[in-house]
Amino acid sequence: MKSNVDNISSLIDRFGRKVDYIRLSITDRCDFRCVYCMNEQMTFLPRDEVLSLEECARLVKVFVELGVSKVRITGGEPLVRKNALWLYNEIGHLPGLRELVTTTNGSQLELHADALYAAGVSRINISVDSLDAERFKRITRTGDLNKVLRGLAAAKKAGFSGIKLNTVLMRGINDDEADQLVQFAIEQEIDISFIEEMPMGKVDHSRDSTCVSNDETLAGLQKSYTLIPSAENSGGPARYWRIPNSKTKVGFISPHSHNFCEACNRVRITCNGQLYLCLGQEDKVDLMPILRENPDDDAPLRAAIMQSMQIKPKGHDFDLQRASTSVVRFMSVTGG
Ligand code: SAM
Ligand code: SF4
Repeated sequence: MKSNVDNISSLIDRFGRKVDYIRLSITDRCDFRCVYCMNEQMTFLPRDEVLSLEECARLVKVFVELGVSKVRITGGEPLVRKNALWLYNEIGHLPGLRELVTTTNGSQLELHADALYAAGVSRINISVDSLDAERFKRITRTGDLNKVLRGLAAAKKAGFSGIKLNTVLMRGINDDEADQLVQFAIEQEIDISFIEEMPMGKVDHSRDSTCVSNDETLAGLQKSYTLIPSAENSGGPARYWRIPNSKTKVGFISPHSHNFCEACNRVRITCNGQLYLCLGQEDKVDLMPILRENPDDDAPLRAAIMQSMQIKPKGHDFDLQRASTSVVRFMSVTGG
């Protein structure tokens, strides 16, 4: 395959923001059906409409050549994709890649934690919305909490330095568990982030009745914990707080807030090769035909990615009250 990069170009958009972080969804499929993410019955993409793992690796390599230094592999559930480990191994040690990270529901982590670590994955986010096995099952519809906790233990044992729980709190469902989840994170010496429910895809419940604001979660936690604001910043929608005398960082991911858009450093690639320039907007470029029509030449792909910077929107437009601004695609397709 031709790769004639003479000078490393950075991806800079119209607003002067440098894009150095990609989130790549490698499958829309999942073994869970979390109520805020999917419906019970889902139609997944036919396999030939999903990027092959070789195409995923090629895309990542081109983005890294263009100056991307952080890659998150996500889904759907990335670890249910057959041979997913091949991809992590293929890209884990690319020159120029500073961080390979992944997000998982943890169901397959017990099996794969050591291999992910060996492949070069440095940090893992594991989604855990409840520590009560029955409630966990109700939220995920199919998930087994004990299996996920064994996955967490395997990840700690494998040596990952950064493990974080991701939690979506929903009113009347698990919003009474924030304290226990933080306590668990402290005991496990890991981090935890609370993510506000986003209007991605139409699910069985009305999101404005379940969405719990991070302000409310923070105020609740402050009754039990001392939280010290931290300057740590990922260039994304997360704000972090430290708990004194613990190793735990508590993050609040508030996608409804616009505060982070001006520093946005990321783009997302769906499992069918759509490059979305913003999680909350429809601006996109279809990379799949470019990949497939030019199997031996990366130049057209590189040009399309560089050109896409011209359509990266200034910010998103999430609004739970206005159905018209909900994003039609599910998070499992775009990649969380
Ligand atoms: N299956 C993996 C997992 O659950 O971690 C990775 C993909 S999942 C789409 C990534 C993250 O998105 C998870 O932490 C999940 O809780 C979050 N998520 C999914 N749908 C969401 C929604 N509508 N609003 C907010 N977060 C959502
Ligand atoms: Fe699957 Fe993750 Fe979506 Fe839950 S949040 S249904 S685990 S993709």
